Amino acid sequence: MTLFKDPQLPTDLPLDPRADTSARREHFDVVNPATEKTIAHVVNTEAEDWLGALARAVDTQKAYVAFTPRKKADICHAIYKEIMARQEEFARTMTLEMGKPLIEARGETANTADYFRWFGEEAVRIPGRYAQSPAGAGDIVVTRTPVGPVLAITPWNFPLAMGARKIAPALAAGCPVLVKPAAETPLSMLLLGQVIADVLERFSAPRNLIQILPTTDAAKLSETLMADARLRKITFTGSTAVGKILMRQSAQNLQRASMELGGNAPFVVAEDADMELALSCAMQAKLRNGGEVCVAANRFLVHESIANEFTQRLSEKMDKVVMGNGLEEDTTLGPMITAAQRDRIHALVTETVEAGATVHRGGEIPEQTGYFYPPTVLSGIPADARILREEIFGPVATVSTFSTLDGAIEKANDTEFGLASYGFSENVHTCQRFAKELNAGMVGINRGMITDIAAPFGGIKQSGFGREGGAEGIEEYLDIRYIGS
Ligand code: NAD
Repeated sequence: MTLFKDPQLPTDLPLDPRADTSARREHFDVVNPATEKTIAHVVNTEAEDWLGALARAVDTQKAYVAFTPRKKADICHAIYKEIMARQEEFARTMTLEMGKPLIEARGETANTADYFRWFGEEAVRIPGRYAQSPAGAGDIVVTRTPVGPVLAITPWNFPLAMGARKIAPALAAGCPVLVKPAAETPLSMLLLGQVIADVLERFSAPRNLIQILPTTDAAKLSETLMADARLRKITFTGSTAVGKILMRQSAQNLQRASMELGGNAPFVVAEDADMELALSCAMQAKLRNGGEVCVAANRFLVHESIANEFTQRLSEKMDKVVMGNGLEEDTTLGPMITAAQRDRIHALVTETVEAGATVHRGGEIPEQTGYFYPPTVLSGIPADARILREEIFGPVATVSTFSTLDGAIEKANDTEFGLASYGFSENVHTCQRFAKELNAGMVGINRGMITDIAAPFGGIKQSGFGREGGAEGIEEYLDIRYIGS
């Protein structure tokens, strides 16, 4: 098979920055989900590439130790600037391979850049501690050292930002990174890899601090690399099922792990909530990125006295959504990532309707090219429905009712996940109860989006552990060392 790139992709898009890209290598297809057309063939890396990359990462770690915190910060800031200078190129690449509307792809690119700016700022603030032994036995000095070579495995829903949350703190802390992007969306990450490698070279730092390893055999890649004790850290964003496999694999060599896994976010609307605010936040929490978001509202829990109005007005707002190819500037909802994902969402909806739920809008696969699924609103959902237990990962809103706040909080927390929760009320006491009692790593009060580069993003329970962003984000890439003297 020969190399191939869609003419709409940036001309200097690398299909694999390091590996041999000749036609002798095996390649895999990248498909535009809006057109169902192949837009690129990417080199399918294999065990030899992975182990070679790890060996290079080990070498670069030694060289990178000599870089001062200020120099690491300067590198991160230069990466920030370079990404912003090429924002449109990144955004188009992402829309072509993933389908999200250009406006969202531009936003994700800016957010990606911002992680480098933030962690550049953190690079010069890595804390330490001095204390005297209480018994007078000597001095206690606590320092932090880079954990070592990192394997980052990322999903397709945010092809750039999920990687940036890992790469930026790793580079700021002093660790080389191997990135395994999702096979559906390797192109944006290959471009980011090239941009970062070029900046590293400008600063006389080793290019191999970042290496991108696209493959269709993710299971073999993680098995191979994690069996090697030189790898010291696994950082993963993806499904809970795969997270558990990786945890088992990390046990062999006790690699440190950060797991950003699935969610099942409740969105509680109290009787006294500001209806207009709750509705606009509901649109954001449900339809951003087509609902293919781990912190997307999965279950709307609305007080029974306002549930009909909420459901009707939410459906009306969804009527205004423009579904189409993300490259069109007026598109506000792109396609699902694959036909299989779209069909999985449709099966969930169909099963719920067959069990007695009411469809207020949507619920049918449109007859058009591309893996589209329309914004859908369901109510009257049986309490034991699978759609309330599982992550929908699509533009489908389920509205259930409650009569007391105690009941709402109990329902909201009745999930094995614990990533994000949202609560809406104009009453300060109700808001305080949301803040204290909604059981999740992140709680949004009267807000439909709470992700922030400066805040610790992450979950509890089956949503995983570890935090990305904030001052906490860099700790994941640092080991603690105690020096007694
Ligand atoms: P996924 O777990 O199938 O895939 C994620 C990544 O893991 C991909 O790169 C994939 O190739 C790789 N992978 C698959 N099987 C593997 C294996 N056996 N060993 C090693 N790697 C393997 O998830 P997905 O369907 O691509 O993404 C959606 C999931 O990601 C959802 O559950 C979503 O909630 C979650 N997610 C979580 C966060 C968060 O921060 N908590 C953010 C975004 C997405």
